[in-house]
Amino acid sequence: MTTLSQTAQSEALFARAKAVTPGGVNSPVRAFKSVGGVPRFIASAQGAYLTDADGHRYIDYLGSWGPMILGHNHPAVREAIAEALATGTSFGAPSAREVELAELVCQITGAERVRFVNSGTEATMSALRLARGFTGRKYIVKFRGNYHGHADGLLVEAGSGLLTNAEGELGAAAPSSAGVPEEYAALTLVSEYNDPAALDKLLAERGHEIAAVIFEPVVGNAGVLIPTAEFLAALHRVKAHGTLLIADEVMTGFRLSPSGAAGRLGLQPDLSCWGKIIGGGLPVGAYGGRAEVMDYVSPQGPVYQAGTLSGNPLAMAAGLATLRELQADPSIYDRLDAYGTALAEGLRGAAAEAGVPITVNQIGSMLTAFFVPEGDIRTYTQAARSDTAAFAAWFQAMLAQGVYWAPSQFESIFISGAHTDTELGATLEAAHHAFKGGSI
Ligand code: PMP
Repeated sequence: MTTLSQTAQSEALFARAKAVTPGGVNSPVRAFKSVGGVPRFIASAQGAYLTDADGHRYIDYLGSWGPMILGHNHPAVREAIAEALATGTSFGAPSAREVELAELVCQITGAERVRFVNSGTEATMSALRLARGFTGRKYIVKFRGNYHGHADGLLVEAGSGLLTNAEGELGAAAPSSAGVPEEYAALTLVSEYNDPAALDKLLAERGHEIAAVIFEPVVGNAGVLIPTAEFLAALHRVKAHGTLLIADEVMTGFRLSPSGAAGRLGLQPDLSCWGKIIGGGLPVGAYGGRAEVMDYVSPQGPVYQAGTLSGNPLAMAAGLATLRELQADPSIYDRLDAYGTALAEGLRGAAAEAGVPITVNQIGSMLTAFFVPEGDIRTYTQAARSDTAAFAAWFQAMLAQGVYWAPSQFESIFISGAHTDTELGATLEAAHHAFKGGSI
């Protein structure tokens, strides 16, 4: 493999971008702030590969941060979008594809009702408003290092982009963004992920005023954290307090199993939030669940939520095509699991050989290699002990060898159905050199 050190086009685009866009990017982690170097501007994407503006090709582990489970530019998705395009791009009135996608989502996930929005942020924000409207309670609970989008009340101890871009220390006190009034943040109670006793105690003391507990069923936004069975049991106990359980499956939905983390881990939330895969690479989010709760949403009920572009025909077409492909070939999930497991084992082996202490957390096609000695990393507090400088050097060495890893220690990578043994082999060879402190 050659070293991909020529970045003239990306540098030029980044300079232009910085003159007209804050930090030169439209979403913070893309700026490479925590790993250094020039962010690669992407010209095209195909299958498991990205090609940047300088013509370099990378094995892609971002997958657009999750949506591209079938790989980039999948023919079925592309054709579905083209077909929809020919009939108009937005109506502002209902159309058949919204009904078809809603039916499919309900069938796959067991939700009784679903409402489409345009991003994961909108999905979680709306689900929480609904929970408050349904229960008549003010407070919500979230977990340290879980990210649920950038709505005001959720930017509290909020995970990756905040961990690696904030000027302050890791774990800076709530709220984790300027511009969020303390009064908003005060309505968000924070508990430690994977600490069932802390959650039980909080609910015992304040359950009567807590509308909902929202959680990432597998955390991607502090790096991958996998829930213990005891923690999952405690989550289900919150329902006994009349508190709604909201699973944020924006990352895990349709990824960790056909029916997401819920199917894989046996969860029964009251509401779920989706994003990413549900839009097949176009901007879609959704929230759904029990009819009794969902029927509180306007115009059926009193909780207002709306969207000019919600149910957009192109976005619905991309989501439908993606979910139908996944349904038609569920063996993709076995392939994703096998790739994820082999990648995790290969990384552990390569790091051990180079004497680099790492802990790899992996479940299915989500994986984080934490640069901390082998241990059981279950909480944000443990993850935050990672050597972010060592990760940054490794990330750059991988990039120089044509492997585009997630540009932050506190993110999951995403494997797609387009990743094969060829990409696995090349990735592990690059990792082998990167752990030894170099590239070839
Ligand atoms: N929830 C989770 C679990 C997420 O990972 C994300 C985004 N990475 C969001 C919500 C917000 O989604 P979006 O970026 O589409 O607003």
